[in-house]
Amino acid sequence: MNSTNNNCTNLSEPVSSAGMPDFSHSAKFPSPLWLGKPYYSLDSYCKNTFNEKLYKISLDAGFTCPNRDGTISHGGCIFCSEGGSGDFAERLTSPEQIRDALLAGRERLAQKQTGNKFIAYFQAYTGTYGPVEYLESVYRAALSVDFVAGISIATRPDCLPKEVLSLLQTLKCEFPEKFIWIELGLQTIHESTARFIRRGYPLSCFEQALENLDAIGIPVIVHLILGLPGETKEDMLASVTYLNNQKVAGVKLQLLHILKNTELAAYYQEHAAERISFQTRDEYLDMLITCIEHIRPDIVLHRITGDAPKKLLIAPLWSGNKRDVLNTLHAKMKQRSAYQGKQWKGNFHAGSFNTL
Ligand code: SF4
Repeated sequence: MNSTNNNCTNLSEPVSSAGMPDFSHSAKFPSPLWLGKPYYSLDSYCKNTFNEKLYKISLDAGFTCPNRDGTISHGGCIFCSEGGSGDFAERLTSPEQIRDALLAGRERLAQKQTGNKFIAYFQAYTGTYGPVEYLESVYRAALSVDFVAGISIATRPDCLPKEVLSLLQTLKCEFPEKFIWIELGLQTIHESTARFIRRGYPLSCFEQALENLDAIGIPVIVHLILGLPGETKEDMLASVTYLNNQKVAGVKLQLLHILKNTELAAYYQEHAAERISFQTRDEYLDMLITCIEHIRPDIVLHRITGDAPKKLLIAPLWSGNKRDVLNTLHAKMKQRSAYQGKQWKGNFHAGSFNTL
């Protein structure tokens, strides 16, 4: 993923990608770029690229979602919380509040060992769903803040019309020293699961969005959920390996959380409490390690388990201890000599992916 890849071209002109870490000539993995971890974490990527860890400041810029406002459905995805999957985000009511919200977010992180720069993360609901003038004002406000290294926008692939792509391209050219990332909530490649969770778009829509974003040089981070109802381990692995052949710069792997006041909570209460996919931490970690071993080694892993607000989490409760989950993951990977891409059988096509 490369913040210097600025494709300031007309939307109709194809652009080539550049700046991907050159893993193709690496003698072996784990790569030194991973800074001692058995996978390419976002922390390592940021330290390699910006010489410091970049913390995210989550924003809720007052968007809604077509899957909740009735355009596609009223209920939303069945796992989505009332906060629009942005329960840690700072709620804003006008673009003028962006700077203050970012300052407040930085202040909250003061007890951590942060660097000087941060990522403004448009996390809640659908971050490209709104009048283009409003989108422009909030993105521009965030990009204009001196301590913001770049913005990351969580959205749906069916909410990236040409006007939004044009806006992203314009801002990319206007702020060449900053990055713009798009995060797409794919969750699964399986259409039957997608219908069950009421995702509201087909896989072909996701693929078109990837093409469109690649054409303007915007790196894409894809969200996948492990443990969706009815999915086998083979189904989950198929979603993970599918991404290896897509123009994807980063992946977020999220354990399915069952949160209060969601349809998923009602479903499990009524039908299937005993069928929660990962009853134990170790069961999840075994699956997670298999997934990591199959992921292309240059894809940056932005997340490998996920956080849920404790007051909302119904299950699995073991996931509330994130530190324990990560420590055990690292110990198990070491024990098994596991690392990202160990089971990946593909070839690098250097320059064929937009990188962060
Ligand atoms: S697309 Fe995102 S915000 Fe909309 S309902 Fe689904 S998870 Fe929630």
